[in-house]
Amino acid sequence: MIVAIDGPAATGKSTSAKLVAQNLGFTYLDTGAMYRCVTLSVLRHNIDLSNNSALTQLLSDLNIEFGQKNGDVSVWLNGENVSAEIRQADVTNHVSAVSALASVREALVRIQRQIAANQNCVLEGRDIGTIVFPDAEIKFFLVADDRVRAERRQLDLKALGEDKSIEALIADIRRRDKLDSERDHSPLRKAEDAIEVDTTQLTINEQVDFMVNKVKSLTIGN
Ligand code: C5P
Repeated sequence: MIVAIDGPAATGKSTSAKLVAQNLGFTYLDTGAMYRCVTLSVLRHNIDLSNNSALTQLLSDLNIEFGQKNGDVSVWLNGENVSAEIRQADVTNHVSAVSALASVREALVRIQRQIAANQNCVLEGRDIGTIVFPDAEIKFFLVADDRVRAERRQLDLKALGEDKSIEALIADIRRRDKLDSERDHSPLRKAEDAIEVDTTQLTINEQVDFMVNKVKSLTIGN
């Protein structure tokens, strides 16, 4: 069974998707982390995004692995644990431009489909319900008020030792959503059959309970 969780930045997708997967005993796949890995690699190798052959080489050398320990998910890029680095501002600022490229999307969607094939999986991203798994058994689309999203992002950044104003974070989030929604290839949008969940007023536990109950009601035929 495939559970698709999509939505704009900082709507609580990662935290709740991880817990939904844990609760159901499903594999969890953070597809945003994969786009972040490619972006980190592009930045490290100083690759010009119009240089197709350099990008093709980078994508063919790419090896992304996920590890899970005590509820924490770590991300490994070509054997190196990059879990913290992919969340840094430089990567966040460039990820929408990198993820707009067709070659990057094709390579990552192929890997996502391979990982999720033949197993129960919760996938979280922007295009899971529309492109990666349009036939997913259940799809959620998370949304939340801009200010609340910025406050959540501020807390995440504080944990990483970064300080940023709410106004700057609202601007960042809106810029990224705009780029993600207006790109030509697999733009961020709600699948017609997705269940919209507004997380503005919800705690993480409430979001998780809502989604888990929906999945369970489906599997027991209610
Ligand atoms: O979810 P997260 O904020 O980590 O995603 C980082 C970026 O990766 C998004 O802003 C978007 O540009 C890209 N992304 C995507 N498709 C996905 C997941 C993420 O384009 N399925």
